[in-house]
Order: sequence, then structure tokens, then C-alpha cells
Amino acid sequence: RTNRAATRAGQPAVTADGVTVLVAANVGSVADARAAAAHGADLAGLVRTEFLFLDRDAAPSIDEQIAVYREIGEALGGRRITLRTLDVGGDKPLRYAPAPAERNPFLGVRGIRRSLAYPGLFADQLVAIARVARDMPVSVMFPMVSTVAEVIAARRMLDEAIGRAGHAEGLRVGIMIEVPAAALRSAAFTPYIDFVSVGTNDLTQYTLAAERGNAALSADGLDPAVLRLIQLVGTQAGVPVAVCGELAADEAAVPLLTALGVRELSVAPPAVPLVKEAVRGIRLELAGPLAEQACGLADANAVRALLKPGNVHSG
Ligand code: PEP
Ligand code: MG
Repeated sequence: RTNRAATRAGQPAVTADGVTVLVAANVGSVADARAAAAHGADLAGLVRTEFLFLDRDAAPSIDEQIAVYREIGEALGGRRITLRTLDVGGDKPLRYAPAPAERNPFLGVRGIRRSLAYPGLFADQLVAIARVARDMPVSVMFPMVSTVAEVIAARRMLDEAIGRAGHAEGLRVGIMIEVPAAALRSAAFTPYIDFVSVGTNDLTQYTLAAERGNAALSADGLDPAVLRLIQLVGTQAGVPVAVCGELAADEAAVPLLTALGVRELSVAPPAVPLVKEAVRGIRLELAGPLAEQACGLADANAVRALLKPGNVHSG
């Protein structure tokens, strides 16, 4: 199966009933971008730009950012790259843009909040992104959004950056849905954005009040509470919906996410071929009712039991 997946990795992923699902790659370095292309990713659905900003004494210059973003775009050979603006929290120190002392960094000045707190830093990143968007297909995405006001403020700064860059016609603008407040109100963001991408790692953490990576808690993104939020986004967002958290690479979850309206799955580069194969096995006429049912089950274990391959795949 792995061999067949590798052979077909460069082709689009279409369900058995003819729905195309983009299978994208999550990228955290230029090397990842090369791996994404090698594994047949349709685009880079999440570029974690933190790698450029962490472990240094000063922020990268606009020119340095441009060079790296371009290199990533070139590695992807003309496929779209989705540049997420800086997403750091109080748990990852930035000497040149510190967070206040926080007792709970995951609920503190992180993601878009940090960028809005350092407008000079944010403006430089937006100018770099807008410049790169002049010569290749680029999307920009804001992390950890919780209110519409944040998106309006970020867009205003983006529009200014586009003014400084000259033009950036192909630039698409999106937000990550990682906070329950944003999932509950996804329609309120529609006037300001072109797409949303659900970050299931953080969305699971914040929905279940269970810290990411805390082995004692083992929160599962297939929890019906998380699924309900994704379903809400799928029906209310009014723009294309992607998923870029770990759940997107979970073969059991792929049919369900697709049935909930997700049309892009962004995963670690090596996972691209198998996720494409999983998409090809989906029959939405079966997956749709199962997704409905999953949203009403008791817990993630019950959902996993329901999603046994025979139930959702054409075989
Ligand atoms: C997520 O939260 O699901 C996500 C994709 O972002 P990150 O893992 O970088 O926080
Ligand atoms: Mg996140």
C-alpha cells in the first residue's frame, strides 16, 4: 500500500465520489519544503515561520525573511505556500520581543496577540510576505485568533504592508481556528478573510482544557466536542476550510474531516502519500452519516471504534 501511495503521490487526491481534497504539507524549514515537494504535496498548507525568529538576539531583517520565504516557494516549485505569521508564546522566549511574565503562557500573549503587541516586528514580517507574494503564489495566515478585532487590526497592518510592497494581487489571507471562541464565531470572520485553517493541536488543548503534550491527559482530537466545533466551522465559515493539526494525518480522521466540509489537509511531508490514499478511499455518502453520528458519541474512543476502515471506505 505504501508503494502504491508513493507512486500516486504526485497526483491529486479525489474521493471515490469525485470530491477533490488538497493534501498539503506542514513546513518548518527549507529542508521540509524540499521534502514536501518530494512527497507530492499539493501546496505548503502551513509554514511555521518561528524557525526564522527563535534562538537569536535580533529579529531577522525584511531581506533575510524574503530570501527564506522565496527559497521555500522555490522548493515547492510554484505551488502555493501558506506563511503563518510568527506564533510564539511565553513558553518560547524571544529576547527582542519578550512576553510579560505570565503564570500561564498558553493563555497569555501568544500568536497574533504577540504580533499586535510588537507592531514594528509584525509590519516587517508582513512586508516581507507581501513582497514575496508579488512573484509566487502566497497565502498569509494569522495564528491563535480569538476575536474579530484582532483580525481587523491585523488586516489593517497587512494592507499597509501591501502598500509598501507595491502590490500583491495573488495574496490570500486566512486565520487559524485554534481557539473555541473563533470556531464558535467563524462566520463573523468571513468578511475579512479568504480561508480558515483549523489547528487541531491547539483547538483540542483549549476545548478540553488539556495541555498539549501532557501525557497524563492524552487529549484526542477526535473528541466529539472538538468534532462539533469543526462541523460548525465547516458549515458556517463561508470560505474554504483546511485542517493543519496532527489530526489531519490520522487516517481514521481523514474521512470524517472530509465529511465535515474540510477540503485541505496539511500534514508532515512524509505523511502526504498515505493521506492522499486515504482520501481516495472515501465515499462521502457513507462518511457523511458517520460524521453526524460521531459528533453525538460519548467520547473519542467511541468515535475511533465507529471509524473502523470497513465503515467508511469503498474497500
Ligand atoms: C495547531 O495548533 O494545530 C497547529 C497546526 O499549530 P502549531 O502546532 O504550530 O501550534
Ligand atoms: Mg497552534
